[in-house]
Amino acid sequence: MKHCEFDTAVIGGGHAGAEAASAAARSGGSVALVTLRLDGIGVMSCNPAIGGVGKGHLVREIDALDGVMGRVADGAGIQFRLLNRSKGPAVQGPRAQMDRSLYRHGIQRELNSDARITLIEGEAADFVMDNGRLAGVRLADGSEIRSKTVVLTTGTFLRGVIRLGEEARPAGRVGDRASVWLAERMESLGLPLGRLKTGTPPRLDGRTIDWEGLEDQPGDGSPVMLSFLSERPLVRQVSCAIAHTAAAAHDIIRENLARSAIYGGHFEGIGPRYCPSIEDKVVRFADKASHQVFLEPEGLEDHTVYPNGISTSLPADIQERFVHAIPGLERAVILQPGYAIEYDFVDPKALKPTLELPALPGLFLAGQINGTTGYEEAAAQGMVAGLNAARQAQGLDAAVFPRSESYIGVMIDDLTARGVSEPYRMFTSRAEFRLSLRADNADQRLTPKASRLGILSDARRKLFDAKMEALETAKSVIGDRSLTPSEGARHGIRIAADGVRRTGMDLLSFPEVTVDRLAQLWPELGDIEPETARQVERDAIYGKYLERQLRSVEALKRDEGRRIPDGIDYSAISGLSRELSGKLGAARPETLGQARRIDGMTPAALALILARIRLSERQTA
Ligand code: FAD
Repeated sequence: MKHCEFDTAVIGGGHAGAEAASAAARSGGSVALVTLRLDGIGVMSCNPAIGGVGKGHLVREIDALDGVMGRVADGAGIQFRLLNRSKGPAVQGPRAQMDRSLYRHGIQRELNSDARITLIEGEAADFVMDNGRLAGVRLADGSEIRSKTVVLTTGTFLRGVIRLGEEARPAGRVGDRASVWLAERMESLGLPLGRLKTGTPPRLDGRTIDWEGLEDQPGDGSPVMLSFLSERPLVRQVSCAIAHTAAAAHDIIRENLARSAIYGGHFEGIGPRYCPSIEDKVVRFADKASHQVFLEPEGLEDHTVYPNGISTSLPADIQERFVHAIPGLERAVILQPGYAIEYDFVDPKALKPTLELPALPGLFLAGQINGTTGYEEAAAQGMVAGLNAARQAQGLDAAVFPRSESYIGVMIDDLTARGVSEPYRMFTSRAEFRLSLRADNADQRLTPKASRLGILSDARRKLFDAKMEALETAKSVIGDRSLTPSEGARHGIRIAADGVRRTGMDLLSFPEVTVDRLAQLWPELGDIEPETARQVERDAIYGKYLERQLRSVEALKRDEGRRIPDGIDYSAISGLSRELSGKLGAARPETLGQARRIDGMTPAALALILARIRLSERQTA
């Protein structure tokens, strides 16, 4: 029997586990990372992509706190696209297509090269207890890993069951066994467990796809990176392609719905509404003649293609038939059929905002085990749990992440205060402070915090300090220049003729005014680096909205106790999504505060309800 002593033991080497181990080590603790297979550390179970709208914000925040995900993803990125490029920076999300193997090896390299982390292959089967206190982890082979704190990040593995058509077998994901002992142990602790489900599409052999007939989808000409440290992609860039399903494929799916694991009634768990299976789409959007299928290469040296959009749990023979009915995929060979998986999760309302479980002090939970879905959501929780586990082990105070400061804070508060009724995914609409919580300023918001918490590398500190100095200097040079409306008009800058003299920074808050435009008036501004100029412009544009944002958030807080009229018809409130009006109709909250705590509730939806309350108060006055 082996006895090792660590500050923190992290169970699971997925996205939450990797980030938890790294954050705990950067906090100065000694860390054991125990996982079922060392070569499975950093595996992407589903889509080969990192980032997107909301998710990209999380990656930038993890990166600003000196986490590993953004840096590794940039090194493994084979296509970069900034989503919502035509919209404002607050809702733009950087996303990158990954070479799966490069990503996995990148994460393994990061963890291997950190001398404070010990990687251990094994199955955690139980907790070690000393006089009723958590004292580590017991592995299935009987050995013990002693630690002051434990972070549990077992993803979809707790009592995982894979379903493919009528077949079902226990597994954590394809090729991995399920964790049953640990699930039973969690149950014996009296923890509130539930069941959720998710699915993945079949994988195709790219050499058998008819690329010629398909729409090409190249990456951006000037790639936007995920990490603040990266300048450009490191490996060859590729194009994706878009195929479209058609009536023939829909007919095959519809005729075989009874054989789908999801539709055949074999599941008790709830699936992700935002990532529906192709069966779901064909049933729920019956009037749509076609659905897009994004064909995403899984790597530079790998012919596997991930058909994003046709996740399914139909039997393998039916998958083959409907895939072949999609134009461009008539000859496509399926390398691995799609499947669905059902697993246990812990109701995150049982957790503190540090992600510690008060029912077993010293135990922290992060990732899909808390009812979320997605690599980025998992990694962000891993960061919070790993950091706090290490701090507790060293007798330091907790690190908390408020909603007003980061999407990480929004997610943690949503999970721990509201819980989940379906797999939780990040959206920008979940944040009331979304004008200030932008992907572009994540470092300005969080890197100083990382420095205070002592988890920042010297290299990043130097880069950040240099960037801030350049920004401050540019803002002060621009702010020192000013003009009146009539001077502006003479130079073609149209502003209200109110006689007010405006500084260069005031002028930049108008979207059509740029630093380059101002440099035509004041040539010395032409020396500002383009990257710095773009950031000054973004900060200036949003600066004027921040106060308004703060006022509306405070108004909503003041109205928490406001009573919602009985019999209110949520479906009649225009602008309220069908999802939320259904949840509100079922929960029938009595006050605005209760409505706020419904899972999935957004600040915009609360504002609509508040307007409806005010209207009915006026009508009855
Ligand atoms: P994981 O990445 O699953 O990592 C869990 C780790 O724990 C693994 O390393 C495993 O070896 C280890 N482990 C488990 N049990 C033990 C034990 N007892 N002892 C030691 N180690 C253990 N996300 C989306 O955003 N969209 C999707 O469409 C989507 N579809 C998915 C489909 C499938 C089939 C699966 C399996 C996942 C899907 N996901 C999807 C989810 C995504 O993969 C996860 O959200 C993400 O990987 C969660 O990260 P994690 O770190 O919580 O868990």
